[in-house]
Amino acid sequence: MRLFYNPEFIGTKLFPDFFWRTINGKILLTFDDGPNPETTEIILKKISDLKIKSLFFCVGNNVFKYPELTREIFSEGHLIGNHSFNHSVLLGKPQSFVRNEIQKANVAIESAIGIQPEYFRPPKGRFSLTLKRTLTELKMKNVMWNLLTFDYKNDLNIVKFALINFLKADSIVVMHDNKKNKSILSEEIELLFNIAKEKELEFGAPAECLK
Ligand SMILES: [Zn+2]
Repeated sequence: MRLFYNPEFIGTKLFPDFFWRTINGKILLTFDDGPNPETTEIILKKISDLKIKSLFFCVGNNVFKYPELTREIFSEGHLIGNHSFNHSVLLGKPQSFVRNEIQKANVAIESAIGIQPEYFRPPKGRFSLTLKRTLTELKMKNVMWNLLTFDYKNDLNIVKFALINFLKADSIVVMHDNKKNKSILSEEIELLFNIAKEKELEFGAPAECLK
């Protein structure tokens, strides 16, 4: 049951140089799959109210379509990470494919915000030795997680269960900037904030949590 929420144990053994938790004992909140004109603004409003700085793993093609929105995330002090260009699963793909997916997204992100991202998260969390090698060559770091909220199921009770049972001091929490969970977005962020408070845990900014 625990591994279902937290792939940490197997992953850390095989890929110790990936980030599986924060390094400073603070919670890092991450949002995958954006930017999205239906949901990014909802997230930005909420995390600004709660004073949380987040890491947005953006899909290159979405950055290409919505550069303004990407700039807005960045200008509010959040970090943009690379989540591939087409959200294609990279496991089992040749290195040329993997590199192209990452580099194309880097170009889209750099043209939107002026800098290349340092952090990468693989679509659907599927990684490989080829991915690891490619990221090393590109001097990028892979960021996994130790708390999946399953928010894409769009059920606040499922998110609540995950947070109450598994949120801890060094959690890297995955939520989605995606219309699938649009109706619970504001509430799920608030829930995370409140459960962290009850557990007396702090949030950290991306740069300090990952280094
Ligand atoms: Zn994704």
